Amino acid sequence: MPDRDLPEDLVLPLATGEPWWYWSGGRPAVDFVNTHRERWRRGVETLVTPQDLTAWLVQAQVMDGPAPVSKVVLAQARDLREAIDLLVVATIEDRPAPVGAITLIDDWLVFAGVRPQLVAAPAGRPAVLTERAAADSPRRALGMIALDAATMLGTEQRARIRICASETCSGRFFDRSPAGRRRWCSMRTCGNEAKARRHRLRRRKAEA
Ligand SMILES: [Zn+2]
Repeated sequence: MPDRDLPEDLVLPLATGEPWWYWSGGRPAVDFVNTHRERWRRGVETLVTPQDLTAWLVQAQVMDGPAPVSKVVLAQARDLREAIDLLVVATIEDRPAPVGAITLIDDWLVFAGVRPQLVAAPAGRPAVLTERAAADSPRRALGMIALDAATMLGTEQRARIRICASETCSGRFFDRSPAGRRRWCSMRTCGNEAKARRHRLRRRKAEA
């Protein structure tokens, strides 16, 4: 469970999803997947507007500053997100992933590459090799997320992908614990709740 559960009386669709973003995924690709909340029930979209996507990419630190996003890119970003999640679930369930999802993520990887640029140098040297200005930084940022997803899903790192063990949380996370036995997206919320429930059960048994 994220920092804050979605209230029952939430008016859907949201006007903006920003108040409901959370960052316990352990890496950008997983935090991105978690912008689709309550997958087990209401399926709440928190990347509602193009402005939402801009703000999210900046907060996720995959984009330096705000850059305008079109509705087309927003739709493409959601498609990328769902493709990543299809692979996350297939990985956890240890079954083949839909080929379309793999191709979709792969298509984004070209945007993650380095973008070298040769420019005229100030006095003294003829030219300098630099990085091209991010003319289309949202696509570049989504490319970085696709690369993060590909690194996680396409290497041994895949063994660390998890879905929170809480029955009421669909949070995905990347297990960075030393032993690799983390069960909850957050110890502070879902983990604590599970502990409290076990405690209540034990007490009830003791009383019986
Ligand atoms: Zn959880």
